[in-house]
Amino acid sequence: MSFQKEINRRRTFGIISHPDAGKTTLTEKLLLFGGAIQEAGAVKSNKIKKGATSDFMEIERQRGISVATSVLAFEYNGTKINILDTPGHKDFAEDTFRTLTAVDSVIVVIDVAKGVEEQTEKLVEVCRMRNIPMIVFINKLDREGKDAFDLLDEVEQKLGLKVVPLSFPIGMGYEFKGIYNIWEKNVNLFSGDSRRNIEETIEISDLSSPELDKLVGEKSANTLRDEIELVSGIYPEFDKDEYLSGNQQPVFFGSALNNFGVRELLDCFVEIAPKPRPKQSEERLINPDEKNFTGFVFKIHANMDPNHRDRLAFIKIVSGTFERNKPYLHVRHGKKLKFSSPNAFFAEKKEIVDISYPGDIVGLHDTGNFKIGDTLTEGETINYKGIPSFSPEHFRYINNADPLKSKQLYKGIDQLMDEGVAQLFTLELNGRKVIGTVGALQYEVIQYRLEHEYGAKCSYENLNVHKACWVQAEDEKSEEYKEFLRVKQRYLAKDKHEQLVFLADSAFSLQMTQQTYPSIKFHFTSEF
Ligand code: GDP
Repeated sequence: MSFQKEINRRRTFGIISHPDAGKTTLTEKLLLFGGAIQEAGAVKSNKIKKGATSDFMEIERQRGISVATSVLAFEYNGTKINILDTPGHKDFAEDTFRTLTAVDSVIVVIDVAKGVEEQTEKLVEVCRMRNIPMIVFINKLDREGKDAFDLLDEVEQKLGLKVVPLSFPIGMGYEFKGIYNIWEKNVNLFSGDSRRNIEETIEISDLSSPELDKLVGEKSANTLRDEIELVSGIYPEFDKDEYLSGNQQPVFFGSALNNFGVRELLDCFVEIAPKPRPKQSEERLINPDEKNFTGFVFKIHANMDPNHRDRLAFIKIVSGTFERNKPYLHVRHGKKLKFSSPNAFFAEKKEIVDISYPGDIVGLHDTGNFKIGDTLTEGETINYKGIPSFSPEHFRYINNADPLKSKQLYKGIDQLMDEGVAQLFTLELNGRKVIGTVGALQYEVIQYRLEHEYGAKCSYENLNVHKACWVQAEDEKSEEYKEFLRVKQRYLAKDKHEQLVFLADSAFSLQMTQQTYPSIKFHFTSEF
């Protein structure tokens, strides 16, 4: 197959949702269609479950699963599909944000009864800012839920989307009869049998046909006719270009658990979702069909085996082909590296591959060369951008609890930060180290992993910080800036890249500082 054809047939996307909306279940049904797995229950949930096991054991279990589910690839009707896993737990939100830099589109799963939830809002906002094309899947139609029109309204209002329903439910819960597929103009009747893989659809090219009354009963048929009329009155026609530019979001309804409405979603997805897209580097826009390989690291996963402390760096291929044993330039280090066993991912297996194409993800064994955001090329010096750090929500001093192991401790902290587990700040005043995280869970992860992977012990001490803000001065030589540095010294720190950060202890003090020093900008992300 030609290089161009390989690019055109790839679809790399992520599924985002609030925990419990049905992301794992949907992923699994998609894999079943691809024949990548044989039975339900094969895809493990990457959720953190609170309960019987202690938290860090749970975290280890979750990490094990998340290696296996990082990338799930399968073939469907000649299309190569790469699903990138996105943790739903809010403490791992930064992982998800980073993964979203490597997808070409997303599917948003929403629970019909719960509607738009907190985590969905946050993640969709990130996608919206980056104009990532989105398809919405409204799940659990076999249960009583919100009225379809109300829910579509809610999606528009809370998520700031412009929806276009491409399917519509016929009833809901006990009364759920099936789905009218506006996109394909057919009816799919619901039988509640989750074991079937192939759905029978009945063509209904004309909704006024008495055939419809026979299928779903006169009452439901009439309701559907009214609703579809309303749909075409309220919502615009689906426009693929609008979808691709992030201005319009098609919506499907279904029940992932019952494998219902999933095939419709997948068929439409394969047809409309974008092939690998060009990506902006600091130097220039890179097109997937350029001959030379380029790619970037969006995720690093530590090995689970403490005896082999190597890590797996996940590279998204942006352009050209990635080949085994070919030397590539690690731009930040300015040196060439060769990889003898790059991993590709198929459903739940990983295999060594000789060649990978734009849109694909390869996993490279790494002993500490990579950090998140690194660029690899065939020789050109370019840097991909767009993996910012966000202000953490929690801050604690980290102390060495075993003086004999300080080397191990610092190495461990360094590597965990490269993986993006948390952020490290060093106070200007006294050089003390502060760990900032999105969720409280990360402190347990760090402590546990430092001990088990590096043989080091740490303890934490509370620190009252409200937000970390990256500081940008209009003029670094100004009196105002010099005064700011002097007066606020004990609130200043450097991040890992030696960027200056202001650790505000309250919303009020941040506001006061902003007012006192109007020529200084305070950013909540590291990229501005
Ligand atoms: P995730 O947290 O988004 O990955 O959600 P899961 O896929 O683990 O699903 C959460 C729960 O919802 C599980 O108990 C599923 O069995 C259930 N579930 C998923 N899809 C459906 C559906 O279509 N109907 C019903 N009734 N339950 C569902």
